[in-house]
Amino acid sequence: MESRRTETDRTIITGAGSGIGRALAQAYAGKGDEVLLVDRSHEGLEQTLRLIEAAGGKAQVHVADLSRPEAVKELFGRVRESWGAADVLVNNAGISAFKPLWELEVEEWDVVLDTNLRGTFLCSREAAVLMREKGVRGRIVNIASTRAFMSEPDSEAYAASKGGILALTHALALSLAPHGIRVNSVSPGWIETGDTAKLSVRDHEQHPSGRVGRPDDIARACFYLTDPANDFVTGENITVDGGMTRKMIYAE
Ligand code: NAD
Repeated sequence: MESRRTETDRTIITGAGSGIGRALAQAYAGKGDEVLLVDRSHEGLEQTLRLIEAAGGKAQVHVADLSRPEAVKELFGRVRESWGAADVLVNNAGISAFKPLWELEVEEWDVVLDTNLRGTFLCSREAAVLMREKGVRGRIVNIASTRAFMSEPDSEAYAASKGGILALTHALALSLAPHGIRVNSVSPGWIETGDTAKLSVRDHEQHPSGRVGRPDDIARACFYLTDPANDFVTGENITVDGGMTRKMIYAE
């Protein structure tokens, strides 16, 4: 096995063109990793890159629609050429679609499942092929959601895709354990990626932690799971939701 137990890694972040993925990209670049940022939005990636460069970091960017197997193959062809293999993959790219059950077309279901679940599967498998080949003790983190555990109405496709990510995570963890590759997930609750000034006191106070989540909350959970020292943790999910899924609610 390659003993690359250094502080810095070769790290791929998907969905790095906005929101949580952008914050992850900044956090991993900030700790000195070589980062490859992937998104279907070229403009989003350019903005993330500018932020990283303004902070003195650097990154590579790659535009790809990760729901397409051929695009994922192309991405990992590039990874093979430039790095041989990645040490860390964070599967963060995702879409949400909320629509009444009665109006949800099967094509719309497929787009959500293909992006969130199939994309995570395809990227994990291609990353693992290279990690196994190069003997890298890789770490994969899949971004799920508390909607894998709890629901509001009209969320069937998204909830199923995120529940699938949890099951995929433990299945991959077992298949890849003999190769020294760990696979875990993070389930965010409400993580505000927009204008936090628009949040109300009620938005914050409904959380047992007293505040709405921030992208850096997710970055720290990913840091824990991708730290080579934490190699006793695999197939696990960390919920980062300010306690919301532990809160018992009675009618007043
Ligand atoms: P976001 O929409 O801001 O970012 C998602 C990124 O993924 C976008 O840049 C988008 O272009 C990219 N993307 C979408 N489909 C893609 C595809 N097919 N190929 C490549 N890139 C694609 O969303 P976010 O709030 O930052 O969420 C990031 C992840 O966290 C998602 O998986 C989401 O489900 C999950 N999540 C977010 C929250 C939250 O409150 N923000 C809560 C739970 C889970």
